[in-house]
Amino acid sequence: MISNRNQKGKNTTTSTTLYKIQDGYIADTPGFSTFTIDEIESEKLAYYFKEFKQYLSQCEYGDCEHVKEEKCGIKKAVNENKINIGRYDRYCKLREELKEKEEHKW
Ligand SMILES: [Zn+2]
Repeated sequence: MISNRNQKGKNTTTSTTLYKIQDGYIADTPGFSTFTIDEIESEKLAYYFKEFKQYLSQCEYGDCEHVKEEKCGIKKAVNENKINIGRYDRYCKLREELKEKEEHKW
């Protein structure tokens, strides 16, 4: 019996990448670069770090950047070892890269 299957290319689509990002996979990828997350705005980056989300409400300002602010829920969680410092580090670096890209865009 011969079965005819159509092979679908399914590993090169943008949606796959985005899905992984939404799933919080983003920061678990070593060598991850902003090349992959071009479409993310720097202000929204924190939402893509799964474990950051629950602390966002503790930030004093709605537009908190989680970098220099004093009363920041994310930084507090990092200090209390609730958020891995390495992950936070990566957040800061990615954020910088994204900001730079945004500046060059305009
Ligand atoms: Zn914050």
